[in-house]
Amino acid sequence: MILPPATLGMLGGGQLGRFFVSAAHEMGYKVWVLDPDPHSPAGLLADRHLIAAYDDYQALDEFAAGCAAVTTEFENVPADTLDYLVKFLPVHPAASAVAVCQNRIAEKSFLADNGLPHGPFAAIRNEDDIRSANAGLFPAVLKVARFGYDGKGQARVADRDEALAAFQQFKGEPCVLEKMLTLDFEVSVVLARDEAGKVQCFPVSENRHRNGILDVTIAPAQASACLRDNAQEVAERIASKLAYVGTLGVEFFVCRGELFVNEMAPRPHNSGHHTIDACDVSQYEQQVRALCGLPLARPRQHSAAVMVNLLGELWYEDGKGHGTYREPDWSVLHAVPGLRLHLYAKHHARPGRKMGHFVVTGDDAAQVLERALQARAAIGIRDE
Ligand code: ADP
Ligand code: MG
Repeated sequence: MILPPATLGMLGGGQLGRFFVSAAHEMGYKVWVLDPDPHSPAGLLADRHLIAAYDDYQALDEFAAGCAAVTTEFENVPADTLDYLVKFLPVHPAASAVAVCQNRIAEKSFLADNGLPHGPFAAIRNEDDIRSANAGLFPAVLKVARFGYDGKGQARVADRDEALAAFQQFKGEPCVLEKMLTLDFEVSVVLARDEAGKVQCFPVSENRHRNGILDVTIAPAQASACLRDNAQEVAERIASKLAYVGTLGVEFFVCRGELFVNEMAPRPHNSGHHTIDACDVSQYEQQVRALCGLPLARPRQHSAAVMVNLLGELWYEDGKGHGTYREPDWSVLHAVPGLRLHLYAKHHARPGRKMGHFVVTGDDAAQVLERALQARAAIGIRDE
């Protein structure tokens, strides 16, 4: 067991890393963050911020020498970096698990090979793969295999010609072509798994997206007990097959009542932010526990919760990214009963950039949802 006041290493300095730093600090640990951005949200809170690229081996040596164990907060850390660090200290999750989650072709193949439910897809490595793709896939979504996030690197394509054009726009990068599914709704499972293989799931959440970016999470999801159990069971199987250690997020589509895995995130998940405010243990504390070999807590959600993401366009006068740049009027949110605001201290707001979120909690799920949606409108988020 790694116990306080040990120093933990975090690869990546985004908001997920920032919440990890807070959780680790509360538990008595120190944290070093490695991230090239001098203004990274996690770096600002860390005991030490190594401002370096993920493949800067001199910085990695220093990082390894100063930390007792290393984890990550984003899936695009090069697998080589994790493989290098593991020669010197424990690294969780392992490079092999991260490698599956960071490449959509590997991810979909993993699901297919393990008999896990997923939508129809084809791996696209060249134009011929598009020409020979099953006609039943269209209309479809073409997604770059690597480095896409928040709906970036995706194109909705009606037919083969549009898919070819989009593939050229993506400069021939390897892609997956997914059948466009008609969704009843989307859910996610956040879980933690320890080295002995013990798993603890958080309750299933429902996720509503806007322009391909998570907008609202409703926790727990108002889905049938059968569907919720099934989602947790599939997420557990994924974690076991990946020999995963740490906090994992699994996104699902629900389509005609059936579950399909959309994608996995080898880190805490945006749809698990509310675990800070609504559960007796957060997804970030579980990440610390799994990394340090402490017993995982059995999460209990004590309040209904709704999380609303705050994106960069809110900092602009028209709420869409145009006009005067100014800070939103946070007093509007602080007046709402049961609302907690979390801001990530990012340097500059760009449209679509995740700048913060708020969570409304309470005993009555319907009232919590109503309050959260009212607060969302009051701060200036509009549905076109
Ligand atoms: P990201 O890595 O950006 O989260 P996702 O693959 O999860 O990418 O896609 C973002 C969102 O776009 C999904 O949560 C869903 O709302 C929508 N979407 C993606 N793929 C499909 C699909 N095959 N059918 C229907 N909707 C989809
Ligand atoms: Mg997603």
